[in-house]
Amino acid sequence: MKPVVIDRLEDLKWEECICPLCGTSESQTVLMNKEPLTEGQFGYKVHPVICTCGLVYLNPRWDAPTYSRFYKNYYDDLYRLDEKEDYGIEGIKRNTKEIFNRISQYIELIKPKNIIDVGCGSGAGFLYLNEVLDDVKYYGVESSEDSIQKLEKMGVKVVDSDLEGDWTKTYNGFFDLLIMRHVVEHILHPIDALTKIAKTLHSDGIAYIAVPDMMRPRVKLRDYEKWWEYYFRAVHPYYYSKETLFTLLNMCGLEVLAFGEENDEIWCVVNTKITNQGSKERTNSYDEQIRVLEKYLP
Ligand SMILES: [Zn+2]
Repeated sequence: MKPVVIDRLEDLKWEECICPLCGTSESQTVLMNKEPLTEGQFGYKVHPVICTCGLVYLNPRWDAPTYSRFYKNYYDDLYRLDEKEDYGIEGIKRNTKEIFNRISQYIELIKPKNIIDVGCGSGAGFLYLNEVLDDVKYYGVESSEDSIQKLEKMGVKVVDSDLEGDWTKTYNGFFDLLIMRHVVEHILHPIDALTKIAKTLHSDGIAYIAVPDMMRPRVKLRDYEKWWEYYFRAVHPYYYSKETLFTLLNMCGLEVLAFGEENDEIWCVVNTKITNQGSKERTNSYDEQIRVLEKYLP
């Protein structure tokens, strides 16, 4: 894999941050060969730390304007799945079929009419849903201008280019099904963003959320000898596990109805009918997370 020259991203700015789950910056640097791990994907420097609560996150990380510039100018070239020869549109349709199978019992129950995919790319997932569902309106949040054009041609309504934008006010209580596949780990301010996004769900609606699983990192890779240079990447400010993800969702007013841990990812179905928000006993996954990191890092 050809690394990208770091200088391509001019004017790289960094910011310090705190753990969104416990509000502190008490943390330990993730180490490799007793030195801080700093080699991220495509040659971009990363600074992963592990909070005393078990959440792995980048600190410092790029500031928000740097991320905006990166998503606007470089993200498509480096990451856009439907433009990758070895993955393509069929790969995304396969992913969506997997999601559909995982949540089919809920789909039968709620019979969704308004479905939104937050971070939908150029809409290959909608092609699959359109094959298996009738009378559904599709909505998307997407930042890539190229993808937005394709979505509009397909008849998908793009409600915003920014998932943290104003669309959440317009679509209060509107969606029956919301999909966020490998998106939450990108969100810089997850508590604020997910709390707002949760409010766009209809009272009977559900959301499907999936993220890479920090407790089961993918360590065997075709293109990389050193898994951490693939796994730790500037665009993932957070590295969730089941424990830290569910704590986050609970803090945002979302109740986990079902979940699975498969193929290096953790997925779940949530709704907004939460009981005891914030009062659930927090599980501390620090020891387990440290054990996993020490097992797989040299
Ligand atoms: Zn924490």
